[in-house]
Amino acid sequence: MSQQIYPVPAHAKERSHLTPDDYQRMYTQSVEQPTEFWAEQAKTIDWIKAPTKIKNTSFDAHNVSIKWFEDGELNVAYNCIDRHLAKRGNVTAFIWEGDDPHSHDIITYHRLHDEVAKIANGLRKLGVCKGDRVAIYMPMIPQAVYAMLACARIGAVHTVIFGGFSPNAIADRVNNCQAKVLITADEGLRAGKHIPLKVNVDTAFAEHDCPSMEQVVVFKHTGNEVSWGKNDIWWHDLTADCSTDCPPEAMNAEDPLFILYTSGSTGQPKGVVHTTGGYLVWASMTHKYVFDYQPGEVYWCAADVGWVTGHSYIVYGPLANGATSVMFEGVPTYPDVRRIGQIIDKHKVNILYTAPTAIRALMAHGDFPVEGISGESLRLLGSVGEPINPEAWQWYYTTVGQSRCPIVDTWWQTETGGAMITPLPSVTAMKPGAASHPFFGVQPALVDGEGHELAGATEGNLIIKDSWPGQARTVYGDHERFVQTYFTTYPGTYCTGDGARRDEDDYFWITGRVDDVLNVSGHRLGTAEIESALVSHYAVAEAAVVGYPHDLKGQGIYVYVMPNEGVEVTDELSKELSNWVRKELSPIATPDLIQWSAGLPKTRSGKIMRRILRKIAANEYEQLGDTSTLADPSVVDTLIEQRLNR
Ligand code: ATP
Ligand code: MG
Repeated sequence: MSQQIYPVPAHAKERSHLTPDDYQRMYTQSVEQPTEFWAEQAKTIDWIKAPTKIKNTSFDAHNVSIKWFEDGELNVAYNCIDRHLAKRGNVTAFIWEGDDPHSHDIITYHRLHDEVAKIANGLRKLGVCKGDRVAIYMPMIPQAVYAMLACARIGAVHTVIFGGFSPNAIADRVNNCQAKVLITADEGLRAGKHIPLKVNVDTAFAEHDCPSMEQVVVFKHTGNEVSWGKNDIWWHDLTADCSTDCPPEAMNAEDPLFILYTSGSTGQPKGVVHTTGGYLVWASMTHKYVFDYQPGEVYWCAADVGWVTGHSYIVYGPLANGATSVMFEGVPTYPDVRRIGQIIDKHKVNILYTAPTAIRALMAHGDFPVEGISGESLRLLGSVGEPINPEAWQWYYTTVGQSRCPIVDTWWQTETGGAMITPLPSVTAMKPGAASHPFFGVQPALVDGEGHELAGATEGNLIIKDSWPGQARTVYGDHERFVQTYFTTYPGTYCTGDGARRDEDDYFWITGRVDDVLNVSGHRLGTAEIESALVSHYAVAEAAVVGYPHDLKGQGIYVYVMPNEGVEVTDELSKELSNWVRKELSPIATPDLIQWSAGLPKTRSGKIMRRILRKIAANEYEQLGDTSTLADPSVVDTLIEQRLNR
């Protein structure tokens, strides 16, 4: 593991919202006097009725109940749009960059207001009321954001379904939350390919019974012909005579804002419910401090609005702060792997926030992704979604960030609403691969298998000891599952399901999912460290490690590796790789089986699904569990065919 430390650069200190002393003072207050601290923070939001009751939370498994600002009233869309109009209405909210490098659009806060008001009035016309659920199945176009904010404006609860999901996944989610309207587009565009969104929706409702669904609103995006049913209505027809005046609904702080299903890396996706007041305070505050966002800067979160990262850091956080964001329809590799760099130069992007899966995909091409790119506008980089291997961190830092831009490696989950453990650009000296320190109000701790808290430099299960405003309140329609999943393993605490290591400087390093931890001859090994050692070898682009039953060691180490471009896979190479891990990490971590593969099974959000690899390694590939969120099922067939443990 890399021991290098990167101090806070002078340019980050000079411009910042925070000094290291501010962080210490504010952090201490946030955990010792949470009521005072959060009462003050809540003032950054415009309330219709300011809250007087700040925190009312219980992690007791018999009575899990989480309420923040519970007597306050507000409207999220008002906070994200209207309150900026008087002074900053002509500021750009979104620079939209199409899949086609020649298409882009500018959406000011004024325009955002008018577009949102029209579709919000359209939804009201369809009979959508406060509390009703609306599904949104859209490409990465501004209308996806308009639809989300329109729901927030009228008090409807949105559930965004990632535009890459299949008809089955649409039907499952619509039925789970009983959505009454679905908003989609004729087609999406990704890497020049047409994504048949409307066809998928038609198939979902033809093949599944979805009794709650009343109406499908279709935005004309590519203009290709689509089939039409009696419950379909064009977005432009619905909004043609709608006013640009739509009074926002007064919402209680604890009214639900949205339901979002988790990625499904570890099992069946959960319909996580976020509410209005605490979530908005959390999303906006984390956006401000984690990215040290200053008005006028161009910020780009390259996630999809279908994931929580898109909710908190494309939509709610940045808009609440009046930010200017890039919204990108396409993929980092189209027309070629220089696209991210080209967008950075074209729109003078100052802050880039993306995922390790994208970073590793570009890194496999060496320096080519930045060929002909200036990149001089960049000042900060971010990472989210998986542990970032030190090797990928280094590449991101030197090649993309030109050894000038700090990296914020933000650890968080759909359930946490926003960043939880993260470096802060002006505060934290960086260690590559470490999520570092807790954000305000977050009390992480490490516990052993019995729930005993571990002190000092050590490794264990990561828990959070008390509530924070952005926390999910329940699993939709199944509070018992919420309680069982997060609050019974280590009673009285929130169990994250992730493992972590804390070093001698109190930095947290996420070691991977607790379920994925290997136990080799009595030694506990996290997946992240072994995978990082593998990825640091020149031949390896990506790696996934799982345990399998082994007569002598208890568990053996089964390694799946994807070679870099142009690498020839031989038995010698496998041996070399084995020795490499032995030397880099430890003889205990030496792989037993190494399977080379052109691809790894990933969720649609780009995370490796180790539970499937574990089944293949154990020769139990007939019962793979829920695979509905898998990006490319054919990868799995190939892996099964070529499995090594027969
Ligand atoms: P499911 O809960 O359905 O299994 P998921 O956990 O992949 O799916 P998300 O909420 O999208 O769903 O992902 C959160 C998880 O992603 C975290 O629990 C952690 O394992 C991982 N993660 C996110 N960011 C980081 C990071 N910066 N470092 C390490 N791991 C991270
Ligand atoms: Mg999870």
